Amino acid sequence: MAKLKLITFGCQANEADSEKIAGVLAEEGFDLTETAEDADLILLNTCSIREKAEHKVYSLLGTFQKLKAQNPRLKIGLCGCLAQREGERLKTRFPYLDLVAGPGAMIYRIPSLLKGGSNGPVLPRPKEPLPLYIQSPRPRRESTCKAWVSIMEGCNYLCTFCVVPYTRGPERSRPPGDIMAEVEELLRQGYKEITLLGQTVNAYGKNLKPRTRFSDLLKAIDTLSGGTIRVRFTSSHPKDLTPDLIEAIASLNSVCEHLHLPVQAGSDRVLKRMGRHYTREDYLVKARALREVVPDIALSTDFIVGFPGESEEDFRETLSLLEEVRFDSLFAFNYSPRPLTPAAIHPHQVPEEVKTDRLHLLLKRHDQIALEQNTGRVGTIEEVLVEEGPNTKLQSSATGRSRRNQLVHFSEEYLPPGLTVSAVITEAYSHYLKAKSR
Ligand code: SF4
Repeated sequence: MAKLKLITFGCQANEADSEKIAGVLAEEGFDLTETAEDADLILLNTCSIREKAEHKVYSLLGTFQKLKAQNPRLKIGLCGCLAQREGERLKTRFPYLDLVAGPGAMIYRIPSLLKGGSNGPVLPRPKEPLPLYIQSPRPRRESTCKAWVSIMEGCNYLCTFCVVPYTRGPERSRPPGDIMAEVEELLRQGYKEITLLGQTVNAYGKNLKPRTRFSDLLKAIDTLSGGTIRVRFTSSHPKDLTPDLIEAIASLNSVCEHLHLPVQAGSDRVLKRMGRHYTREDYLVKARALREVVPDIALSTDFIVGFPGESEEDFRETLSLLEEVRFDSLFAFNYSPRPLTPAAIHPHQVPEEVKTDRLHLLLKRHDQIALEQNTGRVGTIEEVLVEEGPNTKLQSSATGRSRRNQLVHFSEEYLPPGLTVSAVITEAYSHYLKAKSR
């Protein structure tokens, strides 16, 4: 069997795409390998959201070029958002690349590109009509208890910092029948948790005829599973957190008590320049409405620190939003200018050292809040799905996630992955909990 070394960068959509790539290439006789030296094909599934990840890709390409010099039969390819954005330029800059393929549905063309010889053609740019979902070969899923289910592709929001609409194209929703068939198969295989994926997952269905609301899809999955499977979804856009969706989160047993709701900034001036389509107050009203009907819900978010033109006062508003919402977890990054995006050419870029100081302050305060919140959970009973077995580095005998998506470590007992346990929380830290099964 030929060997495939697959390296994934970036978001969950890319992780899901990598499982599809592995599935597509398994049908072509490729098995996965951990070591690049063993590989017949090395694919880097790239991300374009932050500059750092791009540098890492370019540095790895240099390493793999040396392997190719020793083994001319080795093929090297780039897929994903960076490949889509840079297209033809990559072929000039890295002439030893054998293929360049965009993200999403484009990955189903990888086998034909591979057969097309070296420097395979770059796939269409988003301006050209993009295919909707193609009936895919089975993804090669990494986990036997948790599965990604892609329900849409692309995004229509055009936030001024984000490259996704240029690389993944406009929003296209997958037909509900296809999604339900995939969920049915996952239930049959005994999966315990599914995560519905989309760049703006809760905008699902706007382009479908007849229109299907995201909350209707959640209800259909809940009915199909009899409420027995855990359902998560990411990433949600605050504008699409509608009353019917809040009601679905509150009433459906299968939907976990966790919502990732990226806010990005706490200042209206910054939110406006980001093109986010909501104000600070809109966001707060929705967070309150959610907590009113699901009081124990965990909220997580994303922040971008040092967006062009962000003043000290703007940043203080971000800190005050953090105080007000008290997120359970968050991802925060320094703003990183991305090619093609309007914010990259904004005249008032914030100096790197200012961004880093602000990021440090935000993360420090969040860690304190998270520790306070987690300490309040000591002694409570949580339902935990075990995902990993023993890990000596983490000094854990098993690790899983609660329905609130909190990382839970067990240190005294072996619990096999895939087991759902009722656990009592014994210790709290900023980023995880410790527990014992009951
Ligand atoms: S909503 Fe904004 S940040 Fe999210 S994918 Fe779309 S353009 Fe990017």
